[in-house]
Amino acid sequence: MDLLTTLVDKGLRRELPTRDEALAVLRTSDDELLDVVAAAGKVRRQWFGRRVKLNYLVNLKSGLCPEDCTYCSQRLGSSAEILKYTWLKPDEAAQAAGAGVKGGAKRVCLVASGRGPTDRDVDRVSETIAAIKEQNEDVEICACLGLLKDGQAARLREAGADAYNHNLNTSEATYGDICSTHDFSDRVETVRHAQSAGLSACSGLIAGMGETDEDLVDVVFALRELDPDSVPVNFLIPMEGTPLAGEWNLNPQRALRILAMTRFVCPDSEVRLAGGREVHLRSMQPLALHLVNSIFLGDYLTSEGQAGQADLDMIADAGFEVEGTDTTTLPGHRREQERGQVGVRRRGAGTELPPNA
Ligand code: SF4
Repeated sequence: MDLLTTLVDKGLRRELPTRDEALAVLRTSDDELLDVVAAAGKVRRQWFGRRVKLNYLVNLKSGLCPEDCTYCSQRLGSSAEILKYTWLKPDEAAQAAGAGVKGGAKRVCLVASGRGPTDRDVDRVSETIAAIKEQNEDVEICACLGLLKDGQAARLREAGADAYNHNLNTSEATYGDICSTHDFSDRVETVRHAQSAGLSACSGLIAGMGETDEDLVDVVFALRELDPDSVPVNFLIPMEGTPLAGEWNLNPQRALRILAMTRFVCPDSEVRLAGGREVHLRSMQPLALHLVNSIFLGDYLTSEGQAGQADLDMIADAGFEVEGTDTTTLPGHRREQERGQVGVRRRGAGTELPPNA
């Protein structure tokens, strides 16, 4: 198939496919699906071998958000039945993070609901980062706290955060359909703040919200332009009590095509299989490992370890290996590029640097 040969060649050279090529991946037939997975798998193995990075979420603050993102159970007015609590203490968060690290997680993602942190919140998270690193100094820490104001990214970096997550979620053209309290450009700005402060940027999407193929291509191309190191791909779990309850738009084949398209467009980024994988990929999850090089560990690892063990078994059964702390996730050229960019930003100062950097 000419399309797939072209996409593999481009992926191995880190060359951007055309929009038509990306769209064509989303429109392949079920008969072609295994060929699509095999082709994107070649690109994945070129940059990440058979390694799978494990990530572990710690929810520092849950619910009670003033924003109105339609996909989110923590949104303003949500009647979804979720846990609501405010700020875990540093030792509680460190304990939860330690369970994830014990299960094989290399990165801990500290997530808090809300529009964005106050300066006092940044202090709290800084204390939490210190508590986690005291127990596990090699663990990577990614903060996910919402929209950042000037200087906050630099303070998180100084506190020991390695990365910052803020997703673009959907295309700029449809962003207004999923949220009215902030816009696409706010999100882009936060990713840029993180990059300017020397944090590794993590930014991805949510598929299944009723978007078109063109929207999916638009958001993945917007991500490629921002060039985050990690690209989490979430599949909407339509929660009762949110406006998107009932939006069941995905099946395993569609989810695999979306992951393959993301891999072709962002060949050397850490593409991560994120929320909704169990619900939408179901028994096809092992095939997704040929496309992504990173996943979140099962949610219930802290209690019995069963869900986390199932993930580890799946990785081993599919012939992949968990990435250890002695291995660097990103290919060498990306690390060099990142160092160069931070160097240029720091040397150049001026407009790109937050005031506190
Ligand atoms: S800002 Fe975050 S926590 Fe708040 S509604 Fe949006 S996605 Fe949910």
